[in-house]
Amino acid sequence: KNFVKNNLIQKSPITWEDIGGLKEVKQLMMETIVISALQKPASIQPWKGILLFGPPGTGKTLLASASAGSLEATFFNVKASSVLSKYYGESSKIISALYDVAREMAPSIVFIDEIDALTTKRSEETSEASRRMLSTLLTELDGFQDKGRDRLILTLAATNTPWDLDEAILSRFSRRIYIPLPDKEATKEIIKINTKGVKLNVNLDEIADKCVERFYSGRDLKNLCQEAIWNMIRDVNKDLHELAKLPYNELRKRKLNVRPLTND
Ligand code: ATP
Repeated sequence: KNFVKNNLIQKSPITWEDIGGLKEVKQLMMETIVISALQKPASIQPWKGILLFGPPGTGKTLLASASAGSLEATFFNVKASSVLSKYYGESSKIISALYDVAREMAPSIVFIDEIDALTTKRSEETSEASRRMLSTLLTELDGFQDKGRDRLILTLAATNTPWDLDEAILSRFSRRIYIPLPDKEATKEIIKINTKGVKLNVNLDEIADKCVERFYSGRDLKNLCQEAIWNMIRDVNKDLHELAKLPYNELRKRKLNVRPLTND
C-alpha cells in the first residue's frame, strides 16, 4: 500500500481545456464520468471501465488525467508493462494494493496504460506474472461495485493495439472510445496550447495542413512546438555562452529574450 501511495498516485492539474481537439471524445468522457459519479437506482450499473484506444501520443493519458482533475479525484497512473518488468513477482499484489488504496481515497480514477501487456492472446509470450496480474485486475474490476457502490472508482485503460486484447479484458471495458490523430482544427488548437505565452507570427493554416499530411500526433506537435521555441530562444539569446559563466544568483536577475515564432 505504501508503495502504491508513494509511486502510483499523481496530482492531476490537467483540465479539459488543456486538451486540443477531441471535442466529441471530451463530451463523451465528461458524460460518462458524470453518470458514474451521480447517485442512481440499483438497476443502473455503473461502467466498470472505459477503454481508450488509438495511435500513440494522441492524448489518452491527458484525457484520463483531465477526468481525474475534473472530479478532483485521486489519480492512479500505472503502466502495465513497467509494473510487470520492474516488479515481476509482485505485480499482482501491487494491483490489489492499488485498488485497496483507491477505495480508501475515493473518488479515484485508476489509469492503466498499455493494458495490452496483460493480454493472454499472445500466449507463448505471456508470462505467469502477467497472467496473475490480469486475473487480479479482473477480480478487482468485478468486485468493486459490490464493495463500494457509493464511492466512485473508475478504471480507464489505454492501448495502441486493441486487436491484441482478449475477451476477458474487452468484456469488462464495455465503454470503448477511439482517440484519433488530430485533424486540421485540432492540430491548430494543440499548437496554440503548446505555445502558450509565446506570440505566433506564423501561417497556422499552412503549418497545420503540413502536419496533418504527415500524420502528426499530439505528441509530435508538442515536440515540434518545443523545437521551434528552443530554436527561437537560441536565435535571440546569442550570449548564452557568456551567461553560462555567471553564478546562479546573477543569472536569476537576467531576463530571457523572446520574439514571436515565425514560419521558419
Ligand atoms: P501513448 O499511447 O504513447 O501512451 P497517449 O495517447 O497516452 O500516448 P499522451 O501521453 O496523452 O498520449 O500525450 C503525450 C503528450 O502529447 C502530452 O503530454 C501532450 O503534451 C501532447 N498531446 C497529445 N495529445 C494532445 C492533445 N489532444 N492536446 C494537447 N496536447 C496533446
